Amino acid sequence: MSVEFIAPSNSPEKPPENLSLESTLKELAVFNFQVEASSLAKEVARFFQAQPLLPGVILTVNGEFLGMISRRRFMERMSRPYGVDTFAGRPIMALYQIAQTDILILPGVALIVVAAQRAMQRQPELLYEPIVVQLEPQVYRLLDVHQVLVALSQIHQQATGYIRELYYNLSVTQSELEAANSQLKAANSELYRLANLDGLTQVANRHCFNEYLEKKWRELGEAAAEISLILCDVDFFKKYNDTYGHQAGDACLQQVAQAILESVNYSTGEVSGETLVARYGGEEFAVILPRTSPEIAVWIAEKIRVWIKELEIEHVNSEACSLVTLSLGVASTVPLPGTSQKNLIAAADRALYQAKDGGRDRVILDFRF
Ligand code: GH3
Ligand code: MG
Ligand code: MG
Repeated sequence: MSVEFIAPSNSPEKPPENLSLESTLKELAVFNFQVEASSLAKEVARFFQAQPLLPGVILTVNGEFLGMISRRRFMERMSRPYGVDTFAGRPIMALYQIAQTDILILPGVALIVVAAQRAMQRQPELLYEPIVVQLEPQVYRLLDVHQVLVALSQIHQQATGYIRELYYNLSVTQSELEAANSQLKAANSELYRLANLDGLTQVANRHCFNEYLEKKWRELGEAAAEISLILCDVDFFKKYNDTYGHQAGDACLQQVAQAILESVNYSTGEVSGETLVARYGGEEFAVILPRTSPEIAVWIAEKIRVWIKELEIEHVNSEACSLVTLSLGVASTVPLPGTSQKNLIAAADRALYQAKDGGRDRVILDFRF
């Protein structure tokens, strides 16, 4: 199997600075992840697991571009009933032929503003499919739509300043200037919203989670204040997909995400306005709770657990209960200077693992942290 992963020179999570209206796709960090179509699907699955931000893989035949399969489509096929049995031991080509859809291929010299427009004009179900960028003949890379939107948002912000100057030079009226500015501001905040949102569940996405936790970790470290983290994982969700189908699985994730949001919002008084609910992974969600003690965090986690159970979503094949349930891991600390937020995530993950191990449908706090 020939899998090549060249780490982009700059992180795909942060666009380069000084982008302008003339900037092109090749200025953005791209994913270079290619597999021969003869590689086994289970090997590709392992790569997706090892690279949580990888939006898809490019398929080649004898090194020549064949097409692209996104993480979402790949997972969707694999998680259907008998998906793993059907595809895992076969070449990825077999899965690709069935799951194939229209691919947006754009040249590296395409303007970012034009690329974003093209990407957002796609059918709703294709909106979050990665974009294939052709840098040279036979040199293809992948871009996450999120990256393009973040870049576009940055370009918009700079353009706002530029347009303001232009308007002043043209000596237009104050109200005309304000109207133009407020339109740009609205467009800009809509872009930010899209770039930070998970397409399926409409809560914050993983990129947003990473950035927010890093920011709060720094801030609260300086303020010597507490921060808590809850990791939630749907119990026996693979079995849910196997029983009710992937579409029902998607609908379930949407319900779970909204219920987590609601139970957190209803805890007003206990929760600060800085709280963030995010989709952490496939069927995993995270709640960042700045300035929140471990006791309150456990109380909120328990509230989420009960709220989800009260949705009474049937799950006859769950070994924990006949309804959809969550396992939750909680960790809490005061960030010390020079330490990383990864320790907090690892502690919450340990607690989550214990909750799974202890029978699921429960909340565990990591005391060792
Ligand atoms: P556990 O109780 O140990 O957490 O078991 P589990 O089955 O929930 O865990 P596992 O990690 O084995 O399976 C997670 C499943 O979640 C497999 C995957 O297909 C499914 N999944 C991930 N993302 C999505 C999604 O976006 N939609 C749907 N429908 N399913 C998804
Ligand atoms: Mg999981
Ligand atoms: Mg699970």
